[in-house]
Amino acid sequence: MNPSPSKPIYPKQRWSLHDLFAGVDDPALEKAFKSIEKDVKALEAQRPMFTPKIKPADFLAFIQKLEAVERRAARLGGYAELFFTEDTQNQAAQAIVGRVSQFGAEISNRLLFFSLWWKDLPKENADPLLKVAGDYTYWLQQIRLFKPHTLSEPEEKIVNIKNVTGASALTTLYSSITNRYTFDLKGVKNGKGITRGELMVYVREADPEIRARAYQELYRVYTKDAPILGQMYQTLVRDWANEQVSLRKYKTPISARNLVNDIPDKVVDTLLEVARQNNAIFHRYFRLKARWTKMDRLRRYDIYAPVAKSDKKYTYAQSTAIVFDAFHQFDPEFQKKAERVFQENHLDGEVRKGKQEGAFCATIEPGLTPWVLLNFQGKSDDVAAMAHELGHAVHSMMAEQHSLFTQNACLPLAETASTFGEMLLVDKLLKEEQDESVRRDLLFRQVDDSYATIQRQVYFALFEREAHRMVMENASVDDLAGAYFENLKEQFGDSIELNEEFKWEWVAIPHIYNVPFYVYAYAFGQLLVLSLYNQYRLEGEAFKPRFRRILSTGGSEAPITLLKHAGVDVTKAAFWQGGFDVLNDLVKQLEQIPVK
Ligand SMILES: [Zn+2]
Repeated sequence: MNPSPSKPIYPKQRWSLHDLFAGVDDPALEKAFKSIEKDVKALEAQRPMFTPKIKPADFLAFIQKLEAVERRAARLGGYAELFFTEDTQNQAAQAIVGRVSQFGAEISNRLLFFSLWWKDLPKENADPLLKVAGDYTYWLQQIRLFKPHTLSEPEEKIVNIKNVTGASALTTLYSSITNRYTFDLKGVKNGKGITRGELMVYVREADPEIRARAYQELYRVYTKDAPILGQMYQTLVRDWANEQVSLRKYKTPISARNLVNDIPDKVVDTLLEVARQNNAIFHRYFRLKARWTKMDRLRRYDIYAPVAKSDKKYTYAQSTAIVFDAFHQFDPEFQKKAERVFQENHLDGEVRKGKQEGAFCATIEPGLTPWVLLNFQGKSDDVAAMAHELGHAVHSMMAEQHSLFTQNACLPLAETASTFGEMLLVDKLLKEEQDESVRRDLLFRQVDDSYATIQRQVYFALFEREAHRMVMENASVDDLAGAYFENLKEQFGDSIELNEEFKWEWVAIPHIYNVPFYVYAYAFGQLLVLSLYNQYRLEGEAFKPRFRRILSTGGSEAPITLLKHAGVDVTKAAFWQGGFDVLNDLVKQLEQIPVK
């Protein structure tokens, strides 16, 4: 047994931003604007130095200066954002956010010359410079990844100019059209003329009739415009193929996105395929949910139906102690780092009017303890959110020896410590909690989340892959709707009664219009953590140094290299299967709880 950690009680209070600035009228704030302005000018003056013959020492010195300026800008930006979130109604906060973001956009434009030059530099000139780059190496390599897919300068200019009135205009138009939609939900108070966000609250309603009506209303509105929304999608897909595949020479439409994530095509294919083979886990889950909600079989309308909640509450002190304990049992260093956030008063746990809702963790610069925002109300969800956000904070602090450019993990790895921290907490609670209704809540929440972030996103990505192929073979909008319905049939099997209108779900997913193939990153991140967690369960102590290495690498290596160094081979189906094994286990535990 690990010794129990000391449990000092930290009050639930407003955070302090004094480590950044003392307030909007702090003279240091104006000084920061001025000194950044001055230093950016000095960097611009060094432009003539950037020839293929630049000396490695000059190159490195420039990057160090660039980082120093960016760090000060990050403090300014961080202060404005955090100040705004603690009180979104504060006009001084609104003003400083506006000013800082304009300032930030200006300086990054003025410094853009560096990355453009660097990307363009021939390999034989770039290699000697990379040798002296130290911690900056991966950041520099990453910029150059896009070199083979970059067009000539006049061509890039044309693409940019034509995009404004082309693909970008089309996605804006899509948002404009769909954001105007209003919905009328009969049988509820104030249900007339509501927004999509307001309507979707009702799909989690206890009354099955209302859940059904909410979805029917959603698709009544979207289906009216389906031919035109579908046509917009076809056009965007063609544009993607024309630009990414024909002009930029990416192998497939999804390859262009994979390079942004720096994940090989084969790894993404493996992940999608393994997910597909594990559909049965969720089928069992939906059948179980039908029993808990007293239905013979769930309809598609019912997948977010609530299962009666336990009313167990946690005090702030209890919650902190549980999270610290869970972290400590894994690694005392994790607890110490999480505790640093409280000790430095960087955690805002209060519920206040005007404060931003939800929860987040913000890393400003290496060496500075991250800030965490929570709205703690004592539900088990709030305890989980605390573990999640503190996990993010631990991740940042583990990687704080890196530069500003290499501290933060890339998108597919960004949720590693946070989700892992949540798993540690859930496991601890499941082991120790005697109250069955609390255990049941924890498990339902975990599987609900996993369905939404893993399987649902995987099937969106599978549809995108199929749709991009079909459109280039001249498929009609109806053909796409047919393919989408087939996709749903595969996803749900006979565990759910599919309702006809869901064949138009795809015209209501903004992500597949705005950022093609973005969605699989969610599944990648979540499943990666579940798989790592599975390794931890199997290997115990032996796993820990490898996990520490993953976290402390931050964003200083390519994701695949980083994982390989930690002994994780994401190219193998078995690794991803490990993640589904954890889910399978959670569903099994749920199946053992007697249905009431
Ligand atoms: Zn997170």
